[in-house]
Formats: sequence, structure tokens, C-alpha cells
Amino acid sequence: MSKVIVSSLYDSDVFRMACRQFDLAADAISLPEAIRDRTKYPRRCLAVSLPVKRLDGSVTVFEGYRVQHNLSTGPSKGGIRFHQHVTLGEVAALAMWMSWKTSLVGLPYGGAKGGVIVNPNDLTESELEHLSRRYMQEMVNFVGPHIDVPAPDVGTNEKIMGWMMDTYSNHVGHVASAVVTGKPIALGGSQGRREATGAGVAYLTKRYLEDLRIPVSQATVAVQGFGNVGSETALALANYGAKIIAISDYTGGIHNPRGIDLGKALNYVRYQKTLRDFDGGDPISNEDLLELDCTVLAPCALERVIGDHNAPKLKCRILAEGANGPTTNAADKIIEARGDIEIIPDVLCNSGGVIVSYFEWLQNLSNFYWSRDEVLQKLFAMLDKAKESVDAQKSKFKFSRRLAALTLGIQRVADAKQSRGLFP
Ligand code: NAD
Repeated sequence: MSKVIVSSLYDSDVFRMACRQFDLAADAISLPEAIRDRTKYPRRCLAVSLPVKRLDGSVTVFEGYRVQHNLSTGPSKGGIRFHQHVTLGEVAALAMWMSWKTSLVGLPYGGAKGGVIVNPNDLTESELEHLSRRYMQEMVNFVGPHIDVPAPDVGTNEKIMGWMMDTYSNHVGHVASAVVTGKPIALGGSQGRREATGAGVAYLTKRYLEDLRIPVSQATVAVQGFGNVGSETALALANYGAKIIAISDYTGGIHNPRGIDLGKALNYVRYQKTLRDFDGGDPISNEDLLELDCTVLAPCALERVIGDHNAPKLKCRILAEGANGPTTNAADKIIEARGDIEIIPDVLCNSGGVIVSYFEWLQNLSNFYWSRDEVLQKLFAMLDKAKESVDAQKSKFKFSRRLAALTLGIQRVADAKQSRGLFP
């Protein structure tokens, strides 16, 4: 028997949601009590204060976190989020999902996540650089190529990863490219990493459309979030022949049943920073976008946007979870009962990002670099394999696709912990 004594450290809606998913999966595979709580709760976390000198000479102290959920299966892996609503509980939930994701797709990693409570749009470029460097400075003894390897997430990008790699390398006294992934190509970034998550979401969506015998040229797509994942998902699906009828960002969305000109939208965002006032269609709210009649709905922004309030109103055939945790436990139940929507669950759907991060890390450690074609070919082969194993688990045990994916990921982590034993 195991006994767990937990504090309220991580307590939040999103952490409870991740725990509920874990409990359902652990029950479904009868995970022994003795291994459950060890597998479920994060291993450790670090909270840091990050003082940054502002342009006007004042100092602002930001709060940042890193949660390492599981280190039993390799160095932990997961992005760093810069967003004004980051909480420790959210970071812990995201770290937990990273553990299941890396295990599900067979990577030699554990799971982690980081975050800073900040709206990066409120900072100048140099303030952002100071914040990013200060965060890495505080993490120097907590991360490393064989300990924990961060990457970009919401509000962070290649440039920030470059600053972090430089800060870490200066501390250890040599070039340590493998300490972060999602870096600029000039610093050892991988070909294909920037588009990897969206390319993976689009590839899996195409595979599920094929399973449903829906020609991709007849598919209409609504994408929430037009950042790294959302824009690359939209572009790749459009390249496959689908029609993108709606896109959005935090300022709201654009709807155009004739199809959105993505080149124009990307150009607009490059200069204006947001989609606000983009004239490629009619304005639509983020809430209404989710309820559009479309073949594919791809939430690619934040967690918990599909709940019991809108799950009964969804009108898509495929729900492709580019974001982590977009669907609440209550919404899962409703969608399962409806039976007319195929969910591609986050841990499978957006795993292309961490798969190509793994390729980047391998290239950094071996100093041998691959072509973009090689990267994408290997990525799609790994996604095919993961899709096959999830669908086999789904049919074998009559699970929902989410439960199938989670049980596979969780079982592998639990097996590793069991095999390693408990250090006295
Ligand atoms: P990003 O910062 O590049 O883009 C986020 C987008 O979401 C932006 O367009 C932003 O305006 C929009 N957004 C923010 N708040 C919103 C709101 N309340 N309503 C609607 N839109 C909103 O971030 P990203 O890297 O594209 O990450 C998006 C999601 O994908 C997150 O859930 C992240 O955890 C997940 N994810 C990212 C990666 C990766 O490689 N970057 C990998 C796997 C999963």
C-alpha cells in the first residue's frame, strides 16, 4: 500500500484536471496502488524571483517556475511559457502531460515544464532578453543536457532559446547546445523544428481524415490560436488541400467561409503582432469560432477552452488538440457520449514538437546534422507508429482515444519506476 500526503502547492483547476485524467487511466489499467502516487505527482519544482531592470530605470520582479514531473525515463523535457496567467499548478499539469507524451511516443525522456508570470508583449526586446537570461541563470543547477532540457511554449520562441543557451553555455564554460531545443539554426537548432508541432498536428489530422474517408480537399478547418502551433497547423493543412475557414489569436478571430489567405494573415501578424483588424474575413469571437460548422477544429492556444458549456455545441468531425489540455474532463464525457467527434488527444496530436526537439538534442550531442527532409520523414514515421499503437489500444480495450493514449504513456512511466525500484 502507498500513502500520499499532498499539500496544496499545485492545487488549481488545471492540475486537478490532469490528476483526474491520470486517475481514470490508472483505474483503467489497474495500476497497482504502490506505484500510483509515485507516478502521478511531480518529482520536484523550483520557484524563482527574477528582477529585471526596466527601460525607465525601475526594477520589476517576475516570478518563474520549473516543474520536473518525471526523471525516471531520461532527462526531463518540456517548454517554458511566458504568460500573465501562468501558475505553479498549470506548470505542474503541463509537466505531467509531457511525461505521458514522451513515453507514449517512445522518447528517452521524462516530463517537465517551466513558466514565468509575464505578458511578454509588455516588455521591450532588451527587457525580454534580461528576463530570459535571468530565468536561465536561476535554473543553471536545475537543468542541463542530461538533466532537464527546456524548449519554447506559449510566449517564448527561438530567439529566447538562443539567449538561454548562451547564458547556460557561459556558466559552464563551453558551448552547450543540447541544454535547450527550439534554438535558431545558427546555434544548433534543427531543420524543421519551428514547424514541427503544427506539421505533426496536420499530418495526424490528414491520417484521421483518411480513416474517415473524407478527402482532405473537402475538409474545412477552424484554428484557435495563430502562434507557432496554430499557424503551422493551418499552413500544413492548407498545403494538403484543406480550406482554412477561421483563425484567431488573443484579440479575437477572423471567419471566411471561402477560405482565408494565410500568406496575407501571416504577413499581417509579422508587422502588426496580432490579427486585430485583419481584413481577410468577418470578425468572430474565440468562443464562436469553437462552435463553427467545420470538418476539423484545432484548438492551438490555451487549456480548458472546451468545457461542458460548449462541448454539446461543437460541430466538427475531428477535434485536433494542438494545444495542451484544451478539453476539460466534463467535456470529454460529453464528447464521448455524443460519439460523432474523433478526438486526436493532445499527448498524441502535438507530439511532433517534442519529437523534433529530440532530434535536435541528438544532433547537438553527436554534432552531426540532418536535412529537413530527413527530419520530417523520421517525424512522420514516429507519428504513424504512435497513432497505430493508440488506435490498437483503443480497439483492444474499447477505450476513448484519450484514455488509450494516456494509459500507454502512464504504463511506460510506471513500468520504468517499477523496474528501477525505490531508492532507500
Ligand atoms: P504561441 O505563443 O506561439 O501562440 C499562442 C497563440 O495563442 C497566439 O496566437 C496567442 O495570441 C493565442 N492566444 C493566447 N491566449 C488566447 C486566448 N485566450 N484565446 C485565443 N487565443 C489565444 O504558443 P504556441 O507555441 O503556438 O503554443 C500553443 C499551444 O500549443 C499551447 O497549448 C502549447 O502548450 C502547445 N504546444 C506547443 C508546442 C511548441 O512546440 N511550441 C508543442 C506542443 C504543444
